[in-house]
Amino acid sequence: MSIADNIHRIEKELAGTAARLVVVTKTHPVEKLEEAYAAGARRFGENRPQEMAAKHPQLPADVEWHLIGQLQTNKAKLVAPFVHTVQSIDSLKLLRELDKHAAAHGRVINGLLQFHIAREETKAGLTLAEAEEILASEDFRQLQNVRLTGVMGVATFTNDEAQLRQEFKQLGGYFAQLKAGFFADQPAFCEISMGMSGDYALAVAEGSTLVRVGSAIFGSRG
Ligand SMILES: *Cc1c(COP(=O)(O)O)cnc(C)c1O
Repeated sequence: MSIADNIHRIEKELAGTAARLVVVTKTHPVEKLEEAYAAGARRFGENRPQEMAAKHPQLPADVEWHLIGQLQTNKAKLVAPFVHTVQSIDSLKLLRELDKHAAAHGRVINGLLQFHIAREETKAGLTLAEAEEILASEDFRQLQNVRLTGVMGVATFTNDEAQLRQEFKQLGGYFAQLKAGFFADQPAFCEISMGMSGDYALAVAEGSTLVRVGSAIFGSRG
């Protein structure tokens, strides 16, 4: 199946659900991104800021760039001129840094709070208590150029459907709690980014609004 076939098949599966597709383009050369673009993809996800910054000028301006990998504060300025959403917000420090650079470019950058939902210790993300501490802080309330639009999580790498469902439910629960506690009057806080090539169907069934799919479109990254 071609890149276009894969994108069209997944778009068809998502039609009528709340979920939209983020095409994960990390490690792939620009020609493959152009192929995805020609097939209608407009949301691209990269996990390294340098790689995303290098690809960005080579693609049309209507691409929404989503950073899905860890962003060190000293790399925020690389992506601030163009990034649509940083899905991997894991500290107040990073929010402040993005806010500063976004302001310098006269922009607003969207952010998703990344939560730790997987069993693996190594997977990044906040706890609910840490997120609540950020959101309750005076520092957070001062920020004008970053806007939190939801939550993101990476589930355990497993075929165990019950485990995956439980982790997606957990992230949905975090979203609901934060929405009620901090964003009740903010319709823009609406995104639950969960689901990858191996588990996006389950994630969509559990309420995902953004699925991040790479290898099911491009093949394995080798
Ligand atoms: C690489 C990556 C994906 C896509 O993974 P696939 O299994 O190739 O679909 C999704 N989310 C994050 C955070 C990633 O790093």
